[in-house]
Amino acid sequence: MKAWLITEITDVEKDDRPLKLANLPIPKIKENEILIKVKACGVCHTEIDELEGRALPSFFPIVPGHQIVGEVCRIGKKVKKFKIGDRVGVGWIYYACGECEFCQKGLENLCKDFKGTGKDVNGGYAEYFKISEDFAFPLPENFTYEEAAPLFCAGAIGYRSLRLANMDNNKNLGLIGFGAANHLVLKIAKNLYPNCKIFVFSRNEKERELAKNLGAYWVGEIEEEPKELLHCAIDTTPVWKPPFYILQHLLPNGRLVINAIRKEEIDKEYLLKIDYARDLWQEKEIKTVANVTKKDISEWLEIAQRFNIKPEIEIYPFEKANEALKDIRNRKIKGAKVLVI
Ligand SMILES: [Zn+2]
Ligand SMILES: [Zn+2]
Repeated sequence: MKAWLITEITDVEKDDRPLKLANLPIPKIKENEILIKVKACGVCHTEIDELEGRALPSFFPIVPGHQIVGEVCRIGKKVKKFKIGDRVGVGWIYYACGECEFCQKGLENLCKDFKGTGKDVNGGYAEYFKISEDFAFPLPENFTYEEAAPLFCAGAIGYRSLRLANMDNNKNLGLIGFGAANHLVLKIAKNLYPNCKIFVFSRNEKERELAKNLGAYWVGEIEEEPKELLHCAIDTTPVWKPPFYILQHLLPNGRLVINAIRKEEIDKEYLLKIDYARDLWQEKEIKTVANVTKKDISEWLEIAQRFNIKPEIEIYPFEKANEALKDIRNRKIKGAKVLVI
């Protein structure tokens, strides 16, 4: 099968072809596993973090990609949940032990044996992909494969960040960065909390325009002062300047959730500018979001189906995987990018 590989750590900005095309054997399945003929795979900033070594893959070469949708084409003897021909999807959670303290509490995202799809096992930038039936999900019926792919990372982790933000109706929510995840968070919040006000901060004019069109109450640059203070905010940027500014706009008891697998080092000096009295005192909190649970994905898929929440997508043919990554690197963002396989 054709597959894209991360073969070594590289600089996505300077490397013309950071991913290498290869021909791999079709994965062999075990009794509890399904083989998926991949139809589409979402493209995520995490792939850049993997390529540049901030989120180091467990081995090289590895197939990246963790927003995988396709058709079940082979099933193991003990598989009960799926049959051949079913439309399924897989997200970042490839495996968790199910037995440790965290798994027992429904926090399998924090399991020490957690395996990330496309980071600890081969992912979905390929024609075929295999996984245990326990970590695959049926696709919502009213979604095409291309529309469904971004639900599995951007959407699922966006939904988790919104939960961790302690959001509810009548609250002001700040969204910092308006790419694949936060544009879906806006749609989720507007459906679940119709009275909330959403404030979008982005340095990118196209993102600000998209936010306005999708019904944001206020949009502005990262450094701009919003019309009102915020109860909570979700930062999806890979850098430090945005959280520094947002802390100043939080109400007492406000919470900032950082939804990023890693932050870059380039503007770390902003951390030293944080003023304790102004930015953190009054019981303000910073929380991060790590991975997703099976419950996050299944609850979110149900919400997406119920409210018909569809991502804004930009489609790239399989051959253009490197171009898609470079466009994310250069912040040419229009919703969620999807490779069609
Ligand atoms: Zn992702
Ligand atoms: Zn566990």
